[in-house]
Amino acid sequence: MILRQVFHTASCSYTYLLASGRGGEAVLVDPVLDDIDRYVSLLDEFGLRLVRAVDTHLHADRFSGLGAVADRTGCTTAMSERTACEIVALRLADGEAITLDGLSLRVLHTPGHTPDSMCLLLNDLLFTGDTLLIGGTGRTDLPGGDAAAQYESLFGRLLRLPEATRVYPAHDYRGRTFSTIGEERRLNPRLQVRSRAEYVALMDALKLPKPKLMDEALPANLGRFPRPMQPTVGGQR
Ligand code: FE
Repeated sequence: MILRQVFHTASCSYTYLLASGRGGEAVLVDPVLDDIDRYVSLLDEFGLRLVRAVDTHLHADRFSGLGAVADRTGCTTAMSERTACEIVALRLADGEAITLDGLSLRVLHTPGHTPDSMCLLLNDLLFTGDTLLIGGTGRTDLPGGDAAAQYESLFGRLLRLPEATRVYPAHDYRGRTFSTIGEERRLNPRLQVRSRAEYVALMDALKLPKPKLMDEALPANLGRFPRPMQPTVGGQR
Protein backbone atom coordinates (compact mmCIF):
# COMPACT_ATOMS: atom_id res chain seq x y z
CA MET A 1 0.00 0.00 0.00
CA ILE A 2 1.09 3.57 -0.62
CA LEU A 3 0.59 6.08 2.20
CA ARG A 4 2.21 9.51 1.95
CA GLN A 5 1.79 12.27 4.50
CA VAL A 6 2.34 15.74 3.04
CA PHE A 7 2.94 18.55 5.55
CA HIS A 8 1.69 22.09 4.84
CA THR A 9 3.99 24.29 6.90
CA ALA A 10 1.93 27.48 7.20
CA SER A 11 -1.12 25.72 8.66
CA CYS A 12 0.74 22.75 10.24
CA SER A 13 -1.68 20.45 8.47
CA TYR A 14 -1.34 17.01 6.94
CA THR A 15 -2.68 15.81 3.63
CA TYR A 16 -2.71 12.08 2.94
CA LEU A 17 -2.24 10.31 -0.37
CA LEU A 18 -3.46 6.71 -0.35
CA ALA A 19 -3.36 3.99 -2.97
CA SER A 20 -3.13 0.21 -2.95
CA GLY A 21 -0.01 0.24 -5.15
CA ARG A 22 1.87 1.78 -8.04
CA GLY A 23 -0.09 2.41 -11.21
CA GLY A 24 -3.49 2.25 -9.51
CA GLU A 25 -6.20 4.57 -8.28
CA ALA A 26 -5.53 7.04 -5.49
CA VAL A 27 -7.39 9.19 -2.98
CA LEU A 28 -6.26 12.46 -1.36
CA VAL A 29 -7.48 13.39 2.10
CA ASP A 30 -7.57 17.10 3.05
CA PRO A 31 -5.63 18.65 0.15
CA VAL A 32 -4.43 22.26 0.60
CA LEU A 33 -4.72 24.76 -2.26
CA ASP A 34 -1.06 25.80 -2.01
CA ASP A 35 0.23 22.26 -2.50
CA ILE A 36 -1.54 21.02 -5.63
CA ASP A 37 1.77 20.80 -7.54
CA ARG A 38 3.27 18.63 -4.79
CA TYR A 39 0.35 16.20 -4.96
CA VAL A 40 0.50 16.02 -8.75
CA SER A 41 4.26 15.27 -8.57
CA LEU A 42 3.63 12.47 -6.09
CA LEU A 43 0.87 11.04 -8.28
CA ASP A 44 3.21 11.13 -11.28
CA GLU A 45 6.06 9.56 -9.31
CA PHE A 46 3.92 6.55 -8.42
CA GLY A 47 2.00 6.49 -11.71
CA LEU A 48 -1.26 6.95 -9.83
CA ARG A 49 -4.62 8.16 -11.07
CA LEU A 50 -6.44 10.36 -8.57
CA VAL A 51 -10.09 9.33 -8.42
CA ARG A 52 -11.27 10.98 -5.16
CA ALA A 53 -10.33 14.04 -3.12
CA VAL A 54 -11.96 14.18 0.30
CA ASP A 55 -12.13 16.87 2.98
CA THR A 56 -12.71 15.54 6.50
CA HIS A 57 -14.55 18.77 7.32
CA LEU A 58 -15.05 22.37 6.27
CA HIS A 59 -11.68 23.99 6.99
CA ALA A 60 -11.57 27.41 8.65
CA ASP A 61 -7.79 27.83 8.77
CA ARG A 62 -6.69 27.39 5.16
CA PHE A 63 -7.92 27.23 1.60
CA SER A 64 -9.04 23.74 0.68
CA GLY A 65 -7.48 22.27 -2.44
CA LEU A 66 -10.52 20.14 -3.19
CA GLY A 67 -11.83 22.14 -6.15
CA ALA A 68 -8.41 22.89 -7.59
CA VAL A 69 -7.21 19.30 -7.48
CA ALA A 70 -10.45 18.17 -9.14
CA ASP A 71 -9.95 20.78 -11.91
CA ARG A 72 -6.40 19.56 -12.40
CA THR A 73 -6.93 15.79 -12.29
CA GLY A 74 -10.61 15.20 -13.03
CA CYS A 75 -11.13 13.42 -9.69
CA THR A 76 -14.44 13.49 -7.81
CA THR A 77 -14.69 15.65 -4.68
CA ALA A 78 -16.30 14.27 -1.53
CA MET A 79 -17.30 15.42 1.95
CA SER A 80 -19.81 14.42 4.60
CA GLU A 81 -23.48 14.63 3.64
CA ARG A 82 -23.80 17.03 6.58
CA THR A 83 -21.53 19.62 5.03
CA ALA A 84 -22.67 23.14 4.18
CA CYS A 85 -20.14 23.16 1.32
CA GLU A 86 -22.09 23.90 -1.84
CA ILE A 87 -19.67 22.67 -4.46
CA VAL A 88 -18.81 19.12 -3.41
CA ALA A 89 -19.80 16.39 -5.86
CA LEU A 90 -20.25 13.41 -3.56
CA ARG A 91 -21.89 13.64 -0.13
CA LEU A 92 -20.96 10.74 2.12
CA ALA A 93 -23.27 9.10 4.66
CA ASP A 94 -22.10 7.57 7.92
CA GLY A 95 -20.99 3.97 7.35
CA GLU A 96 -20.58 4.50 3.61
CA ALA A 97 -17.26 3.54 2.04
CA ILE A 98 -14.99 5.25 -0.45
CA THR A 99 -13.77 2.40 -2.60
CA LEU A 100 -11.02 2.37 -5.17
CA ASP A 101 -8.67 -0.28 -6.56
CA GLY A 102 -8.02 -2.55 -3.58
CA LEU A 103 -8.81 0.06 -0.92
CA SER A 104 -11.92 0.83 1.08
CA LEU A 105 -12.20 3.77 3.46
CA ARG A 106 -15.17 3.68 5.81
CA VAL A 107 -16.81 6.97 6.72
CA LEU A 108 -17.43 7.64 10.41
CA HIS A 109 -19.40 10.78 11.14
CA THR A 110 -17.78 12.47 14.14
CA PRO A 111 -19.37 15.91 14.61
CA GLY A 112 -17.99 18.32 17.20
CA HIS A 113 -15.13 20.32 15.69
CA THR A 114 -17.62 21.11 12.93
CA PRO A 115 -21.07 19.63 12.19
CA ASP A 116 -19.64 17.93 9.09
CA SER A 117 -16.54 16.39 10.69
CA MET A 118 -15.85 12.81 9.75
CA CYS A 119 -13.05 10.26 10.10
CA LEU A 120 -11.98 7.68 7.55
CA LEU A 121 -11.06 4.14 8.57
CA LEU A 122 -8.85 2.06 6.31
CA ASN A 123 -8.32 -1.31 8.03
CA ASP A 124 -6.36 -0.32 11.15
CA LEU A 125 -5.51 3.20 9.95
CA LEU A 126 -7.76 6.02 11.09
CA PHE A 127 -7.64 9.44 9.44
CA THR A 128 -9.11 11.60 12.17
CA GLY A 129 -9.34 15.06 10.59
CA ASP A 130 -9.57 17.54 13.46
CA THR A 131 -11.71 15.30 15.65
CA LEU A 132 -8.74 13.63 17.35
CA LEU A 133 -5.25 15.12 17.23
CA ILE A 134 -2.06 13.76 18.80
CA GLY A 135 -2.29 14.92 22.40
CA GLY A 136 -5.28 17.11 21.59
CA THR A 137 -8.67 17.41 19.96
CA GLY A 138 -10.04 19.89 17.42
CA ARG A 139 -11.33 23.15 18.82
CA THR A 140 -15.10 23.39 19.21
CA ASP A 141 -15.52 27.17 19.45
CA LEU A 142 -15.76 27.98 15.72
CA PRO A 143 -19.11 28.23 13.83
CA GLY A 144 -21.08 24.99 14.28
CA GLY A 145 -18.65 23.61 16.88
CA ASP A 146 -20.16 21.50 19.66
CA ALA A 147 -18.05 20.14 22.53
CA ALA A 148 -20.78 17.77 23.77
CA ALA A 149 -21.12 16.24 20.29
CA GLN A 150 -17.35 15.91 20.09
CA TYR A 151 -17.29 14.06 23.42
CA GLU A 152 -19.75 11.53 21.97
CA SER A 153 -17.72 11.22 18.76
CA LEU A 154 -14.54 10.59 20.74
CA PHE A 155 -15.76 8.39 23.57
CA GLY A 156 -18.70 6.80 21.80
CA ARG A 157 -16.92 6.01 18.53
CA LEU A 158 -13.19 6.56 18.13
CA LEU A 159 -11.99 5.30 21.50
CA ARG A 160 -13.99 2.11 20.98
CA LEU A 161 -11.75 1.14 18.10
CA PRO A 162 -8.93 -1.36 18.81
CA GLU A 163 -6.03 0.17 20.77
CA ALA A 164 -3.55 -0.57 17.98
CA THR A 165 -5.53 1.51 15.46
CA ARG A 166 -3.17 4.13 14.07
CA VAL A 167 -4.25 7.74 14.35
CA TYR A 168 -3.36 10.04 11.45
CA PRO A 169 -4.57 13.57 12.28
CA ALA A 170 -5.16 16.55 9.97
CA HIS A 171 -2.80 18.72 12.05
CA ASP A 172 0.22 18.52 14.24
CA TYR A 173 2.08 21.47 15.65
CA ARG A 174 5.07 19.57 17.03
CA GLY A 175 6.22 17.39 14.14
CA ARG A 176 4.56 14.17 15.32
CA THR A 177 3.34 12.07 12.43
CA PHE A 178 0.99 9.48 13.92
CA SER A 179 -0.15 7.90 17.14
CA THR A 180 -2.48 5.07 18.20
CA ILE A 181 -5.91 4.96 19.83
CA GLY A 182 -4.33 3.27 22.88
CA GLU A 183 -1.69 5.99 23.28
CA GLU A 184 -4.27 8.74 22.94
CA ARG A 185 -6.59 7.08 25.43
CA ARG A 186 -3.76 6.94 28.00
CA LEU A 187 -1.80 10.11 27.26
CA ASN A 188 -4.02 12.69 25.56
CA PRO A 189 -4.80 15.30 28.26
CA ARG A 190 -8.21 16.08 26.71
CA LEU A 191 -9.27 12.44 27.05
CA GLN A 192 -8.63 12.12 30.77
CA VAL A 193 -12.06 13.55 31.69
CA ARG A 194 -14.65 11.53 33.59
CA SER A 195 -17.81 12.94 32.04
CA ARG A 196 -19.25 14.81 29.09
CA ALA A 197 -19.78 17.87 31.30
CA GLU A 198 -16.12 17.85 32.31
CA TYR A 199 -15.07 17.67 28.66
CA VAL A 200 -17.39 20.55 27.70
CA ALA A 201 -15.99 22.68 30.55
CA LEU A 202 -12.43 21.89 29.46
CA MET A 203 -13.15 22.89 25.85
CA ASP A 204 -15.04 26.04 26.90
CA ALA A 205 -12.06 27.17 28.96
CA LEU A 206 -9.58 27.05 26.05
CA LYS A 207 -10.17 30.60 24.76
CA LEU A 208 -8.19 30.16 21.53
CA PRO A 209 -7.46 33.00 19.09
CA LYS A 210 -9.53 33.05 15.90
CA PRO A 211 -7.78 31.41 12.90
CA LYS A 212 -6.07 34.17 10.89
CA LEU A 213 -7.55 33.14 7.54
CA MET A 214 -11.04 32.26 8.75
CA ASP A 215 -12.93 35.20 7.24
CA GLU A 216 -11.52 34.49 3.78
CA ALA A 217 -11.13 30.70 3.94
CA LEU A 218 -14.60 29.78 5.23
CA PRO A 219 -16.61 31.42 2.41
CA ALA A 220 -14.12 30.18 -0.20
CA ASN A 221 -14.29 26.62 1.13
CA LEU A 222 -18.08 26.80 1.22
CA GLY A 223 -18.00 27.63 -2.47
CA ARG A 224 -19.61 31.04 -2.10
CA PHE A 225 -16.69 33.01 -3.49
CA PRO A 226 -14.16 32.20 -6.18
CA ARG A 227 -10.93 30.70 -4.93
CA PRO A 228 -8.12 33.27 -4.57
CA MET A 229 -5.92 33.68 -7.63
CA GLN A 230 -2.81 33.74 -5.48
CA PRO A 231 -2.74 30.98 -2.90
CA THR A 232 -2.60 32.49 0.56
CA VAL A 233 -1.02 30.82 3.53
CA GLY A 234 -1.05 31.17 7.28
CA GLY A 235 -3.35 30.33 10.14
CA GLN A 236 -3.93 28.35 13.26
CA ARG A 237 -5.97 25.21 13.73
FE1 FE B 1 -10.34 22.10 11.28
